Amino acid sequence: LDTPSGSIVFGPVISRRLGVSLGINNIPYKKCSYTCIYCQLGRTIELTIERKPYSDPSRLVAAVSSALEHSGKIDFATFVPDGEPTLDSNLGRGISLLKKELDVRVAVLTNASLLWLDEVRNDLLEADLVSVKIDASNASTWRRINRPHPQLDYNTILKGLQVFSQNYGGILITETMLVEGINDEEEELSGIADIAASLSPSKAYIAIPTRPPAEP
Ligand code: SF4
Repeated sequence: LDTPSGSIVFGPVISRRLGVSLGINNIPYKKCSYTCIYCQLGRTIELTIERKPYSDPSRLVAAVSSALEHSGKIDFATFVPDGEPTLDSNLGRGISLLKKELDVRVAVLTNASLLWLDEVRNDLLEADLVSVKIDASNASTWRRINRPHPQLDYNTILKGLQVFSQNYGGILITETMLVEGINDEEEELSGIADIAASLSPSKAYIAIPTRPPAEP
């Protein structure tokens, strides 16, 4: 993979949400469907919604297996790449193989922008935990904070989220990044809370940028 470290697996790290988490990087550096203003990885290099087989599931399992020999017990093997994990058309196969071969719990942190695609929802169904991003309660704020690929549609994404939440049997959590002057007005927060509540997540996390963001 074309990542700064070149590694598919990193950590384990102690995660606030996930406990001891072994990170999986299944996407080349900064290929994403969004270029969020707060992204800690900087601006997106390739803004895309085209799914491609970025990872090799067998290689992924071998890399996680080898990491587990040194890491000790982990809570999750987590797809948290340098881009959007659902752009990888081999994601579902990777999740499935990890669970079958290594008996690990698998988490995926996604921006949710592709959940309107049946194949993406299906890929995520086997994950034990899925975290979805909800930063805006309307299309205008969404465009300002997440700066989506031009072919994406806010309402279509919301519908995809609803369908996924109704069919998903694992732990669903939401994550909202608050950016001063962009999505921290009361009306916006109330709208975001309504969307999160409509998905009945286990938890709705609110974060603020603590690392240097893409835009000053
Ligand atoms: S979705 Fe994630 S990786 Fe993509 S630009 Fe936003 S914060 Fe960065």
